Amino acid sequence: MSVQLDITGLDSWGFNNDGPLIIAGPCSAESREQLLETAKGIADKGVHVLRAGIWKPRTRPNCFEGMGEEGLKWLVEAKEVTGLPISCETANPEHVELCLKYGVDMIWVGARTTVNPFAVQALADALQGTDIPVLVKNPINPDVELWIGALERMNKAGVKKLGAIHRGFSSARPSEYRNAPNWKIFIELRRRCEGLPIICDPSHLCGKRELIPAVAQKALDLMFDGLMIESHINPDVALSDSKQQFTPEDLGKVLSKLEPKHSAVEDQEFVHMVESKRARLDEIDDILVEMLAERMAIGRQIGKMKCERGIGLLQPAQWKKTVEKRTREGVARGMDEHFMLRIFQYIHEESLRQQECVLAGEK
Ligand code: PEP
Ligand code: MN
Repeated sequence: MSVQLDITGLDSWGFNNDGPLIIAGPCSAESREQLLETAKGIADKGVHVLRAGIWKPRTRPNCFEGMGEEGLKWLVEAKEVTGLPISCETANPEHVELCLKYGVDMIWVGARTTVNPFAVQALADALQGTDIPVLVKNPINPDVELWIGALERMNKAGVKKLGAIHRGFSSARPSEYRNAPNWKIFIELRRRCEGLPIICDPSHLCGKRELIPAVAQKALDLMFDGLMIESHINPDVALSDSKQQFTPEDLGKVLSKLEPKHSAVEDQEFVHMVESKRARLDEIDDILVEMLAERMAIGRQIGKMKCERGIGLLQPAQWKKTVEKRTREGVARGMDEHFMLRIFQYIHEESLRQQECVLAGEK
């Protein structure tokens, strides 16, 4: 089901972007000099909004936890010097109040805050009656409902300049990324919240500089509405996230190589070509559902037969043969082994569930 949000488009937020919105700046405002030098360095690199963490949510205490109000003053000065609108993370009503007092142009809700509906509601209450744009980062855990819930809380409080930031998700699986991309959650958010601007934050997603350019390009290919990328005048000595920040010069190089994509609607011939392929995909999806239903029906019949003869539902040898054969066939046709395995695990799981239901009904 889609979610009705009463929002205004990115073009009404007052930032000077003609294509994807580029937000960049240091992970943290550390000193007046560091922030001003970084801001000056990135101002002519195609950046539209300056970011800097003022209050930093850190995993362990005794790490650098941000400069607080002092940092906001530097942010305001950086705006005066460069003309760039300014943004930072807020995690509680006091942060919101200070941002409004200093004329911060946009705020975002961090991943560690989005997970907590109480904290999100407190922020939403503090934002009642204001017009400041708000970006909500995805919660740390891959839960699209929690993400949507936070957006709804903001919107209910009257925040219309509302958007989301995809920064990847915590995962127990080993990965080269600091936070797993899990693009399907972004795609689901796109589907559910039509018109919602969604920005990608490849810095926190990747955690390593080298991985950022490819992920940033992928985000543009997936039609994200913008990027948030961390930049520091001297990343090696950064007090937070030093491995994922670019010097302003390197940020300029990365941004200049990115190719924004446009939606297909302008080119009619292309649209027709895609449409006809989509129509075929639709037919195939119909067949898939029909075939799955037929497979389940046969599974239920077999289940009944097994029951009558007192044979166990799960026949491990049969299952092993099926899954291995199909996986091999799929791989031979260019599909990923894990994908094939997962698909057949899902089908088998549902088949067993249906067989159990039939048997429960029989008793
Ligand atoms: C940040 O943007 O500096 C930050 C702390 O990000 P996240 O909330 O995505 O971890
Ligand atoms: Mn950071």
